[in-house]
Amino acid sequence: MSGTMAAAHELVIIPEGMIADLLTRQAAFDAVEAVFAGMASGAAVNFPVVREALGHEDALYGFKGGFDRAGGVLGLKAGGYWPHNLERRGLINHQSSVFLFDPDTGRVKAMVGGNLLTALRTAAASSVSIKHLARKDARILGMVGAGHQARFQLRAALETHAFEQVIGWNYHPEMLPGLAAVAEEMGVAFRAVDLPGLSAADVIITITSSFAPSLMGAHVSPGTHLACMGTDTRGKQEVEAALLARSAVFCDEVAQSITIGEAQHAVAQGLIGAEAVTPIGAVINGTHAGRTSADAITLFDGTGVGLQDLAVADAIVKAARAQGLATIVPL
Ligand code: NAD
Repeated sequence: MSGTMAAAHELVIIPEGMIADLLTRQAAFDAVEAVFAGMASGAAVNFPVVREALGHEDALYGFKGGFDRAGGVLGLKAGGYWPHNLERRGLINHQSSVFLFDPDTGRVKAMVGGNLLTALRTAAASSVSIKHLARKDARILGMVGAGHQARFQLRAALETHAFEQVIGWNYHPEMLPGLAAVAEEMGVAFRAVDLPGLSAADVIITITSSFAPSLMGAHVSPGTHLACMGTDTRGKQEVEAALLARSAVFCDEVAQSITIGEAQHAVAQGLIGAEAVTPIGAVINGTHAGRTSADAITLFDGTGVGLQDLAVADAIVKAARAQGLATIVPL
């Protein structure tokens, strides 16, 4: 037997029900901003995404993993979409969990509920884009979409920037009161508009599951920042390709943006090439100027990457340990 002692090792478990109390919107924002910067500098890498139809319960299941060398965060989010959960079991249809590993040894370090985490990290991404790309004098926030994610998007945007008014359009108008309630809860007036009415907005977040564009060039004024968050699969589309092509386009990760993100359509139609899409981390790092004029339309194509999940899960584990709330299993 060698004289080397195995170091004590622990697994931290943070169940879904604890995430709301442990993860502040500010912590999610800081984690996502830092990891976007790391991705642009090459310090953090997303691994190829695995996504499979299970042939069981009509479920889609997959893994999004990555390694942030600078942050020392290694892991994956496993989960997907079980379309019959709600009707059959009263559970939400999207289900996921994050697993973190010790990058020095490969031993599992943490298991963290991934459902609320996903909504908060997605909202943090559009907020990061608003901070770095919107005009500082932006006053009116436009929303396209009023589903589950839209509420998180709206809350995070209102906490990031001092918007004075929210205007919103949704394909299913009966869903808009849910969004209005969030704005009003945050003390900001909400007004439902038609699509042309969105031209009053300084920032527009799109967060729908649409497969055809809703937001056209004529609906957007010069100087607007667009955060396009709904398109995360081949075929989905929220914004007219010609509008994207005449915008300054930024993204979380270029490879995803041009294949499964909003930019896929403009690229497929030959309107732009991959070189027209800039990782927002370059703006955060100061290696790209970002918005260069008050009249430019900037567009952030947020497709959602595994490193966002891992960075936020790591922040949750740290918060739980600091507050003495982590369930720790010695291994
Ligand atoms: P949801 O089902 O709760 O809401 C769907 C929204 O899309 C509603 O506003 C609905 O009215 C709208 N919609 C549906 N059909 C439409 C159509 N034909 N035209 C225009 N609008 C239409 O979904 P959700 O959980 O809020 O998710 C919204 C989108 O965000 C999905 O596409 C989801 O995959 C995506 N998403 C992206 C990320 C990311 O990181 N980028 C993360 C999570 C979810």
